[in-house]
Order: sequence, then C-alpha cells, then structure tokens
Amino acid sequence: MVPVRHTCTVVHTGSFASARCTCGWRGSARRSIGRARADGAAHEETAAAAAAASALPAQRTRDDAPADLAAR
Ligand SMILES: [Zn+2]
Repeated sequence: MVPVRHTCTVVHTGSFASARCTCGWRGSARRSIGRARADGAAHEETAAAAAAASALPAQRTRDDAPADLAAR
C-alpha cells in the first residue's frame, strides 16, 4: 500500500491565500499567508495521523488508553 502524499502549497486568489494539498484538499481562503500555511500544516498532520490510524486499525493511541481505563 502506497501512502498518499500530503504536501501543501499556498496559492493566492485575489487578496486571499489558501493552502492546497497534493491530495486535492484545499484550505479556507485566508487574508494572511501565515494562516493559510498553518491550515496546510494542520492538514498534513491530520492526514498523517489518519493514515497511521488506518494502517494500524487495532492499535489505540497511548493518549486514549489511560482515559479509557480511568472511565471504567
Ligand atoms: Zn492532503
């Protein structure tokens, strides 16, 4: 299985900037390039986490386990 690559670039539309990913994802239009870049970075992170989660469906994150035990 080849993982989808997520590489975001910032594209400018008029006076707005928005992040665009190689996977087809697009961020919201922002007035600030920094914001658009942050959107892209957040997407890359989310996508990477989702890919890792789908690669290991049975494995729970370490953050989940203690909360789960405490709740029971
Ligand atoms: Zn992506």
